[in-house]
Amino acid sequence: MIYANIFYVVAAVLFILGLKKLSHPKTARGGNTLASVGMLIAIVATLIAYGGIDWKLIAIGMIIGSIIGALFAIKVQMTQMPQMVAIFNGFGGGASALVAAADLLSNIQNLINGSPILVSGIEIHPTFYSAVVAFSIFVGTLTFTGSFIAFGKLQGFISGQPIVFTGQKVLNALIAIALVGLAVMMVIDPVNMITFFIGVVVLSAIIGITLVLPIGGADMPVVISLLNSYSGVAAAATGFVLMNNGLIIAGSLVGASGIILTNIMCKGMNRSLANVIFGAVGLVQEGASGTQQQMNIKSYSTEEAAMILDAAEKIIIVPGYGLAVAQAQHAVREVADYLQSKGKKVLYGIHPVAGRMPGHMNVLLAEANIPYDQLLDLDQINSEFEDCDVSIILGANDVVNPAARHDKSSPIYGMPIIDVDKSKTVLINKRTMNPGFAGIANELFGFDNSIMVFGDAKQMLQQLLKDLKDL
Ligand code: NDP
Repeated sequence: MIYANIFYVVAAVLFILGLKKLSHPKTARGGNTLASVGMLIAIVATLIAYGGIDWKLIAIGMIIGSIIGALFAIKVQMTQMPQMVAIFNGFGGGASALVAAADLLSNIQNLINGSPILVSGIEIHPTFYSAVVAFSIFVGTLTFTGSFIAFGKLQGFISGQPIVFTGQKVLNALIAIALVGLAVMMVIDPVNMITFFIGVVVLSAIIGITLVLPIGGADMPVVISLLNSYSGVAAAATGFVLMNNGLIIAGSLVGASGIILTNIMCKGMNRSLANVIFGAVGLVQEGASGTQQQMNIKSYSTEEAAMILDAAEKIIIVPGYGLAVAQAQHAVREVADYLQSKGKKVLYGIHPVAGRMPGHMNVLLAEANIPYDQLLDLDQINSEFEDCDVSIILGANDVVNPAARHDKSSPIYGMPIIDVDKSKTVLINKRTMNPGFAGIANELFGFDNSIMVFGDAKQMLQQLLKDLKDL
């Protein structure tokens, strides 16, 4: 076991270095590899240390898991990543709960007899053991059901709008109280433990659903990173059940990094976490702002857009979810390269929640080898619009919607946006007048300095490049 702990320390160092490298697109791939190597070391060390293992079963599990993982990695589109992350979080939470439950069943007789609980050769106090089992099952099961509701919402199986009903918060509060009661009973009444255990499983599953259903629209990124954090907390709790330092460290790192990401996302939307979880924001009220506004839309051809860009000196590109749908990352780079070759300054403004997952736009643009020093985040880019001649909005909508600044009835009110409207001309590309993720109209499209170039982002950019070259 002592050797296993040494390897866990090595794995922990690799996890931490990996996480550090994940904080920048340039080093992210290396970070992923480091963390994967750390996980391999931790798994092999665990399998050897615990001994008495059915290797055939392990091999079958690894083969099935690897096939599923590889299929996901190949098949899942960039735009479907958040759903995939949601499913993986769910499986992580579910696995932790299952392991804790299996361990409980193997120790139940000792608990009933009042005999000591021996885990990995360490004697554990029954109260501590039962409490961590209850906690692990609660967080793991909640993460499992909550993540699948998040998946259903993002995939369109369930309405993306907040689903609310009268008395929802009271119901959640009652379930939470009942859960605490059942967990306490698990600890103090081992004879009837299985009954209370089933109660904890059922109520945790229900509260996972009822907590995520009312969250909608623009708040999904926060929920996903929060559930990611929960899956880590569940793993760490199961680590205490098994007294496995590797699992405790890995789970704590996931839990902590998930919470840090959640905090960054909340800041990106200017919302508190409590407001995201209990606020039912994103619900589009009947007649809410912008849903039925009259707008003076000016539709331009790519040829006219090319002329405007030809006269510009400073251009800021703002990518959004539509850029990912169109897979236009290479096309945008070609246009930007051409504009730069003509002596124009080109920058990119990246909103933290642009796209459908944290860092979505950075990953996409990195794939097209766009230099990192041209990618500016929200804090850096907004001061650049004062002297910007043209901003090009590519498949972005909510993250440039000025209603977030002034319209208190808007579901995105308070979310910091990219101030594209401050540039001399705003060139907006999307296919139709349909709304973005939050389901609301965007007054920007009707502004005097706004022009629309309709069409698929990739096709539009390819045509724009031709027109620029023809000038
Ligand atoms: P939006 O979802 O607001 O808008 C995307 C726009 O892209 C749509 O208006 C759509 O219009 C257009 N579009 C779609 N396909 C194409 C295409 N092929 N070519 C050109 N345009 C296209 O995107 P934003 O990036 O502005 O905002 C992200 C939203 O997603 C925010 O509300 C955010 O909170 C939410 N979100 C973010 C997550 C994250 O972690 N980043 C996770 C989950 C949600 P049309 O159909 O007319 O073309």
